[in-house]
Amino acid sequence: MSITRKWSAKQQRALEILIRLKRLYPDAHCTLNYDTPVQLLVATILSAQCTDERVNQVTPELFRQFPNARAIAQADIEVLEALVRPTGFYRNKAKNIQGACRMIVAEFGGQIPRRIELLIKLPGVARKTANVVLANAFDIHEGVTVDTHVKRLTQRLGLTEHSDPIRIERDLMRLLPMEDWENWSIRLIYHGRAICQAKKPKCDACLLADLCPSARIEG
Ligand code: SF4
Repeated sequence: MSITRKWSAKQQRALEILIRLKRLYPDAHCTLNYDTPVQLLVATILSAQCTDERVNQVTPELFRQFPNARAIAQADIEVLEALVRPTGFYRNKAKNIQGACRMIVAEFGGQIPRRIELLIKLPGVARKTANVVLANAFDIHEGVTVDTHVKRLTQRLGLTEHSDPIRIERDLMRLLPMEDWENWSIRLIYHGRAICQAKKPKCDACLLADLCPSARIEG
C-alpha cells in the first residue's frame, strides 16, 4: 500500500515537472541538423562526447559528400575520418557510422529499421541513440533517451535512485506518459544546459526548485 502511494506521489511530481518544462521550453526540439533518418542516426552517433553545435558544423560537408547510407557504406574510411575528426574519437566514430550504414544497406534496403531491437544491433547504436532516432524521425516512442543531462537532472529531481542509464530509463518509463518520453528528455537537456548545470546548478533561478529535493536556495 505504502509503495503504491510512494509511486503515485512521485508520478504526480514527475508530471508537474513535465508540465513546467513544457511551459519553460515550448519550442524545444532536437538540436542536431539532418534531412533524413539516416542522417539523424549519423549525427547522433557523432554527438557522443561532443556538442550538437560542433556536430552541426561537421555534418553539412559530410552529408554533401555522402548523403545516404549507401554513399557512407562505400566511402573511403580515411576520408570519413577526416570529415568527422572535429567531433572527437573520430576513428571509432567513422568506423561505427560506416559499419552502421553497411548493415542498413545490407539488411534493411538502405532505410533505418523502425524497431529498437533492430536498431541497437547497428555498430555504435545503443538505446540512447535508438530512442533519439525513433522519436525524432518517426514519432515512435519505445523508450526514454537518457544522456548525461537527463541522467543528472533525473537523479537531482529525485525521480530515480539509479546511476545506470538503462535503469533510469525504466524508472522514467514508469513515471511518464509514453507520448511525452521524448518531450521529457529534450526539455531536460535544455534545462540542464541553461540552469541545472553539472558543476554549479542555478537553484535560485530554477522554476523547478519547489519540486526538487536537491534544491539549494541561498537566501
Ligand atoms: S532546483 Fe537546483 S538541483 Fe534542482 S533541478 Fe533546479 S537547478 Fe537542478
